[in-house]
Amino acid sequence: MYLKFIELQGFKTFAERVKLELGPGLTAIVGPNGSGKSNIADAILWVLGEQSAKILRGSRMDDVIFAGSEKRRPVGMAEVTLHLDNSDGSLPLDYQEIAVTRRFFRSGEGEYYINRVPCRLRDIQELFLDTGSGRGGLSIVGQGRLEEIFTARPEDRRAVLEEAAGIARYRSRKKEAEQRLEAVEADLIRIEDLIMGLK
Ligand code: ATP
Repeated sequence: MYLKFIELQGFKTFAERVKLELGPGLTAIVGPNGSGKSNIADAILWVLGEQSAKILRGSRMDDVIFAGSEKRRPVGMAEVTLHLDNSDGSLPLDYQEIAVTRRFFRSGEGEYYINRVPCRLRDIQELFLDTGSGRGGLSIVGQGRLEEIFTARPEDRRAVLEEAAGIARYRSRKKEAEQRLEAVEADLIRIEDLIMGLK
């Protein structure tokens, strides 16, 4: 799987619709300080479902929407689409090409799409789980992230290794199963109380 191209519109510095071709192999993005290089990495993280405005280097989620410049008025919506080549079948969907889109409006509404079909954030998270490319995955190593990993608490470093080893999916399913078990146990206690009350 690789990222073929990214389309951005209204996202941070990218007011107009922009298509960035990446392709297989190495792509370097160069430009003067403040020209928007890191905003591209933010855009990728954002589509993968990042919910923290701080990680996206803002203070509120609508900071990702183009805020206007001397020449251009602010816009009302940010939209980014990642076009992925899935001919090696790394992503568990039966398509050779997969387009993942996120939209966000100033009103606070957000939308996600996989191949232009509306979906939930969770569908996107599950699509990338264990590929190492998901939100919190290791495919984007931001400035200062390496140092953060080296100095992290052992349990946080373990989470990074688990994602890389591909067992994060099972940990997440285990957590869900444990939550369901807890709910069933609480129901059982309630039923026992009711039975006691009937005796
Ligand atoms: P450096 O080389 O210094 O790391 P860079 O090329 O990575 O810089 P970015 O950090 O990607 O640059 O871009 C920063 C620029 O993006 C700033 O000029 C900032 O004003 C602009 N910017 C961020 N959010 C928005 C927004 N919502 N609307 C318009 N411009 C924005």
